[in-house]
Amino acid sequence: MRKKRNTTLILTICTIVLVFGFIGWFLMAIFEGEKPKIQLGPIPAFLTKTAEVPLVVTDAERGIRTIKVTLKQGTRHITLLEKRFSFEGLFNAEGVHRFDTVLSIDPREFNQGRADLEVYAWDYSRSSGGDGNLTIAEHKMTVDTIPPALRLVSRLNYVNEGGTGLIVYQTTSDAVKSGLYVGDRFFPGFLATGKSDQGMHVCYFGIPVDLKKNTNLFLWAEDKAKNVSKASMNRSIHIRNKRFRTRKMNISDRFLDGVLPYFPNEIKDPTAKNVANFLEINQRVRKENGEVFYNLRTDTQPEQLWEGVWLRLKNAATMARFGDKRLYYYKGKMIDEQIHMGVDLASLANSKVGAVNNGRVIFADRLGIYGLTMVIDHGQGLASTYSHLSHFSAKPGQTVAKGDVVALTGQTGLAGGDHLHFGIMVNGLFVNPVEWWDSHWIRDNITRKLKAIK
Ligand SMILES: [Zn+2]
Repeated sequence: MRKKRNTTLILTICTIVLVFGFIGWFLMAIFEGEKPKIQLGPIPAFLTKTAEVPLVVTDAERGIRTIKVTLKQGTRHITLLEKRFSFEGLFNAEGVHRFDTVLSIDPREFNQGRADLEVYAWDYSRSSGGDGNLTIAEHKMTVDTIPPALRLVSRLNYVNEGGTGLIVYQTTSDAVKSGLYVGDRFFPGFLATGKSDQGMHVCYFGIPVDLKKNTNLFLWAEDKAKNVSKASMNRSIHIRNKRFRTRKMNISDRFLDGVLPYFPNEIKDPTAKNVANFLEINQRVRKENGEVFYNLRTDTQPEQLWEGVWLRLKNAATMARFGDKRLYYYKGKMIDEQIHMGVDLASLANSKVGAVNNGRVIFADRLGIYGLTMVIDHGQGLASTYSHLSHFSAKPGQTVAKGDVVALTGQTGLAGGDHLHFGIMVNGLFVNPVEWWDSHWIRDNITRKLKAIK
């Protein structure tokens, strides 16, 4: 009798535990707290054209109830997607647990400016008063489909082949980078000092001596969102043809015996014939040296450092001009052809070299065929170069004034005698220095345009 009562008691307790256990499990399952997961992106920071944004929502436990995607602009909410999933099977076992889609966001449907993408996902849990678990994903974007505006301001834009040009143009304030393209060569513009609020830019550019016919010239501007504006300048910039000379250069063994020992590091095979070594220097080394000059273009001040006419080496005769086509002959046979990208000026040996204008020394080192070379930045992409020097009197980083002695002439590098090889670069392109020694040219082509915006 006693044994039977005990058995009944144990059975009752077991049943109660089972029932409560089941109810507990049931409630935990129904009110589960696991939130849906949202995977979004990649999403661009700027909406300039229709963006395809992948969206994946998953909910392992109860399954997805609702997904809502909106784009918020200020107080305005635009619904991009709203989807409700039905409850299927016991505990929604057959419901949707993963939803994959691609949101197509067309910026033309929205206002310009800030736009926040918001994704809401609820599951079928009974938690949160029956609404289910909610996950929110947000992404801040900017709608910007309008490229910066561009307007040429300067008139009478004449430029010589091999020469320098200046244009003044205006952009809207959203432009972060702008300038002029001559073919595929870019010349950056610089904000005119004191006029930054009006977006006035000055842009110095050069016309290569070997400019191809029908080369496109166009103004270009880009904003933060990478919207681009272009304006053709083919009718606004007038290029004057220029004739350059052809010069015959006779290369003798005596000359080569004198200059080749300067290049122990550049010549790969010192046992090779003189003429082979010369060609290596005149071609490969010349090209590499040209790249060193070109790479200095970014080391420039955004403001104008120079003023007035540029100086020329005192009491010096012009031995070779800019743009001379040089035909190299060895023992009566033409072996090479190069274009002379500077002016050769000869005075007494070891003459004092003055800075041609105010600026900052950005290079003073040995440079292959150019020997000891100095480069001075004059701001806004303009630089002067001094080669075949025998001595430096200024250091890189040093600020120099027009006329300050910065070096002595010499015949280092590929030079037959003591002279200064002088060059002017516009954003890394060598241009004809003669223009910058001409006060009339500066007045008509540069100062007049700069005055108009002051
Ligand atoms: Zn030269």
